[in-house]
Amino acid sequence: MLLLTTITGVRARRRDLRLQGRTVALVPTMGAIHEGHLCLVDRARELADEVWATVFVNPTQFGPGEDFAHYPRDLEHDRALLAGRGVALLFAPSDKEIYPRPSATVVDLPELTAGLCGTFRPGHFRGVALVVTKLLSIAQPEWAVFGAKDWQQAAVIRRLVEDLNLPVRIEVAPTVREADGLAMSSRNAYLDPDERRAATVLIRALRAAETAITSGERDGEAIRRVLTEVVASEPRAQLQYAAVVDPDTLQELARIGRLALLALAAHVGATRLIDNLLVEVP
Ligand code: AMP
Repeated sequence: MLLLTTITGVRARRRDLRLQGRTVALVPTMGAIHEGHLCLVDRARELADEVWATVFVNPTQFGPGEDFAHYPRDLEHDRALLAGRGVALLFAPSDKEIYPRPSATVVDLPELTAGLCGTFRPGHFRGVALVVTKLLSIAQPEWAVFGAKDWQQAAVIRRLVEDLNLPVRIEVAPTVREADGLAMSSRNAYLDPDERRAATVLIRALRAAETAITSGERDGEAIRRVLTEVVASEPRAQLQYAAVVDPDTLQELARIGRLALLALAAHVGATRLIDNLLVEVP
């Protein structure tokens, strides 16, 4: 696996591959690679001739008081895992390489980012949209693969690619979970053993709400109440939001039609966790 840290290096490699007629699928990450990331790599391998990954803890998507300084960083570990899964090129730039000076350009999708995580992380999705636009422009992949775990992020990226006519296809791969249902996340490393056990309350709440829907409940507010009540039953968890939304527009649903996205954010101890479940009504 080739490890590159400069934009010039990535561009040169891209040029060579294009001359050979080879395609690229990109998997952008912030590192602290886990099985969730590696399943995106597996999916990417099915889409293109080469899989490229990026490891970049993007400063512009962290708010003041968030965990930018403490975010887990271990490039050697990431490098071994990604190479072991067949990644051909890893781009791990410095902050200065990506932001030689503060961006004067803003990539903002207010319609998609006013609610859910956007309410509680002002500016977060502007940071995500900016860095993903830059990474797509740098690597120019045919495909880019993201995880359903960060549903709102994937919706934002899909839409910005559509709106800006970026020549890339976006693939969203399913959420990878631990055996007990907890969605894999780099931030799970922050949890102590009691918090780790308590963290399963997110998937338990989502599944209870899904059961309510499959049992016939169609009222958005009633389903939201199921989510809220299950999270409230776990003393270590503090709910930030529980939402029942349209999976594409992310607008709250008063009544459920064919598809609903159930989405949650909660603090377990000091760690903020998110999860979601797409429910298809039979
Ligand atoms: P991150 O490194 O957390 O920014 O995540 C990088 C990519 O991996 C994003 O597209 C995430 O949605 C995706 N991802 C993170 N955790 C999971 C998971 N448990 N299952 C599937 N994809 C994931």
